[in-house]
Amino acid sequence: MIKPPKFKNKRSTKKIKSIAVLTSGGDAPGMNAAIRAVVRYGLHAKLHVYGILRGYRGLLEGQLVSLDRSSVANIVQRGGTILKTSRCESFFKRSVRREAAHLLVRKRIDALVVIGGDGSFAGAHALERETGFPVIGIPGTIDNDIPGTDDTVGFDTAVNTAIEAIDRIRDTANSHDRLFLVEVMGRNSGFIAAQVAIGGGAETIVIPQLGPQNGLSPSTVETICQNVNQGMRRGKLSSIIIVAEGPKPGLTLELAKKLEKRGYSPRACILGHIQRGGVPTGHDRFLASHLGAYSVEALLRGYSNCMVGVSENQVTFTPLKEVIRKQKPMSRETLQLAEILAT
Ligand code: ADP
Repeated sequence: MIKPPKFKNKRSTKKIKSIAVLTSGGDAPGMNAAIRAVVRYGLHAKLHVYGILRGYRGLLEGQLVSLDRSSVANIVQRGGTILKTSRCESFFKRSVRREAAHLLVRKRIDALVVIGGDGSFAGAHALERETGFPVIGIPGTIDNDIPGTDDTVGFDTAVNTAIEAIDRIRDTANSHDRLFLVEVMGRNSGFIAAQVAIGGGAETIVIPQLGPQNGLSPSTVETICQNVNQGMRRGKLSSIIIVAEGPKPGLTLELAKKLEKRGYSPRACILGHIQRGGVPTGHDRFLASHLGAYSVEALLRGYSNCMVGVSENQVTFTPLKEVIRKQKPMSRETLQLAEILAT
């Protein structure tokens, strides 16, 4: 059970009567459970609740729908987002954000709940700071790269999807005595890769966080070869190497070529977008439901410009300013464990 947040002193006394919710940036499984919780908790608190379609782009185009209990029926188990999502270049402009705030005020909306990743939060933070329009963020991204929360909506599902794929790949790797490179999502962060490596029993992991900054040696072609050869000496003829996608595409294929040059015959498998979709796990639904409900509760209590997250099983609020400026550190213990269990 996730514990309720410790609400400190109230910030604003402006009475909130109506709220809007949108999803922005990359979709993540569990976003629908969060939308459902925002809507139903909002209605329970006697608020009018609106959904904005297609993120900030839809906001600027006035794509607004009124939501009632039945609008969010039968969605808790569905991946993606019923509100749809998008990326909106023009929201980087101050004048456009001002226009967005005017539009919300004209529609008599008092506060906005933004479900998304760090980019979406940067937009929400700028909107609040420049116009004073109240916003609350819910971390919805499979990458889990958001500071101020242990967990993001969609991460658990993505990890489980990748582990299931690796279990299948391992059957082929074992049968053919093969070396497989499996690329998982996560952009610059290796949170998915680290959990998948531990849960999928991978032999090696290649992630940006491995390096002297964590007191751990980075994965190089040399260390990968050493690990594979060490396994072979013990009679282990197949290996799975988990690679975090990294900032630019093609890292895994490059690595496969380098291994080929050293006499190995690796197969590369890029899991890609299958990790984004699918039925959210119970964990993600539970997390999303809590964060959705407490985002509304926070607005009712006068909180704004912060993200609702979870830390040590307790709901927390972190100023969006901190969320977008900091980088989430990866636990050194997790990285060490991945390394110890793999070799
Ligand atoms: P995510 O929220 O998943 O990290 P993006 O980084 O693509 O996804 O951001 C989603 C949207 O948020 C962008 O298309 C843009 O509309 C808005 N956004 C991102 N960064 C900023 C920023 N620095 N200022 C204003 N809006 C931003």
